[in-house]
Amino acid sequence: MPKQVNKKSVVVVGGGWAGLSCAVELSRIGYPVTLLESARQLGGRARRVAFNDYAVDNGQHVLLGAYRHTLALFNILGISLNDKLIRQSLNLHLLSTDGNKYNLHLPALITPLNLFIGLLRAKGFTLYDRWRALVFGFKLFVNAITAGTGKGNDDISVIDLLKKEKQTLTNIRALWEPICLASLNTTIDEASASIFVRVLHDTFCRAQSDADLILPSIDLGALLPDPALDYIEQHGGNVHLSKRVTDITVQQRHVTGILCDSEAFPAGHVVLAIPPHACMPLVKNHPALHDIAYNLSGFSYNPIVTVYIKYPKSVKLDQPVQALIGTTSQWVIDRRLAGQPGLMAVVISGPGPHMEQDNDTLRNTVEGELAECFPHWPRPDDAMVIKEKRATFSSRVGVNALRPDNNTSINGLWLAGDYTKSAYPATLEAAVISGRYTAELIHQNDLNKTD
Ligand SMILES: Cc1cc2nc3c(=O)[nH]c(=O)nc-3n(C[C@H](O)[C@H](O)[C@H](O)COP(=O)(O)OP(=O)(O)OC[C@H]3O[C@@H](n4cnc5c(N)ncnc54)[C@H](O)[C@@H]3O)c2cc1C
Repeated sequence: MPKQVNKKSVVVVGGGWAGLSCAVELSRIGYPVTLLESARQLGGRARRVAFNDYAVDNGQHVLLGAYRHTLALFNILGISLNDKLIRQSLNLHLLSTDGNKYNLHLPALITPLNLFIGLLRAKGFTLYDRWRALVFGFKLFVNAITAGTGKGNDDISVIDLLKKEKQTLTNIRALWEPICLASLNTTIDEASASIFVRVLHDTFCRAQSDADLILPSIDLGALLPDPALDYIEQHGGNVHLSKRVTDITVQQRHVTGILCDSEAFPAGHVVLAIPPHACMPLVKNHPALHDIAYNLSGFSYNPIVTVYIKYPKSVKLDQPVQALIGTTSQWVIDRRLAGQPGLMAVVISGPGPHMEQDNDTLRNTVEGELAECFPHWPRPDDAMVIKEKRATFSSRVGVNALRPDNNTSINGLWLAGDYTKSAYPATLEAAVISGRYTAELIHQNDLNKTD
């Protein structure tokens, strides 16, 4: 006879990808879920915005084949990967302001052959560059990179790791730096080698398809929040927008619910699926959570800017994604794949002097850079700058030591979000892993109570 679990009601605070994945998983296993989101829409830092007649995102998002939990979640929600996502094997094109072009293309071979042959054939790099990259790739594959991997608290910066591994200046500038900024949203001087090595390992050293780039062909709101909302409601849950949670109610170290100003939502479990800076005001008044509050105060944040530029429909890139080196603009993504021909999303990750520029100046900078790189393009018709100042936590050296567990010392109070304990940087996948794991912990906790 299967055990009868006493499933308590759950309030999930926050409708980003962590909160949604947690609520979907809890709904799937039969929990009554109430999700409260302070904004007027779901999605959090991965949400739909409008630009002219286009539905775009608050920032262009790229997923990887390695995002196994995110892809599994899409599967549960019946999201067809063929209709909504475009998947391509890794083929990085990089263009430098000095005129040099670089290319890394992984052939369709099993891992690690695809990586080794891809590195050996990489264009724009000298034989010595490629040899050094290959040695680094081999060490990654056999797990021989220990300094900076967090073993024995020896985390170091990515730049120190790359120097230690004798990476050439070209390899750093045209390969590792763009990959580090794109995946960790942290500069190589500050970024944690431990997190970087984990990202490289999971992307390049497991299945061949893990390195695939996956681009949504619909806006992010339609990709997850819309189907997740339907799923939660169809399974008896409730979702409330414009509800800011202002306090957690606790009795004798057991959570009893939350407050939205004076409105009370009683619950047997509460999941705080909100970023560290939003958690702080909720946890700091509870003495049992002081350790968590202390760690959360140590997080710092990095921006991501996306500039959407609308050209005539005939304008296109030779490939969907183009990296630029030596410019403020870092990546150009052709939104033709999302059914928006002529629209380019230009992404600038990490901090930099561009954050001091007002939107008009930044727009002019980016448009000027594209005009230099693609002199045959006509003048754009329109543009929109979106600055997300706290796009992600900084994946800086030692940050993993600050990341809290999903459970807390208050019974029934749980944390979820891209920042909780994991080896990954702030990504959709980290958020989904965290949300689903919290759902599992809640279920396990209730199963144990039934014993
Ligand atoms: C511009 C940009 C580009 C990015 N690009 C990529 C990419 O290419 N690939 C990738 O994998 N990742 C990317 N990321 C990172 C990714 O979007 C985040 O890691 C992920 O969305 C975090 O999800 P989350 O649920 O942990 O947090 P959030 O998305 O921040 O969700 C938290 C939610 O809680 C709500 N909330 C906060 N306080 C309260 C409260 N008191 N009461 C109720 N609700 C509250 C917020 O409104 C929000 O909706 C990018 C992020 C940005 C901003």
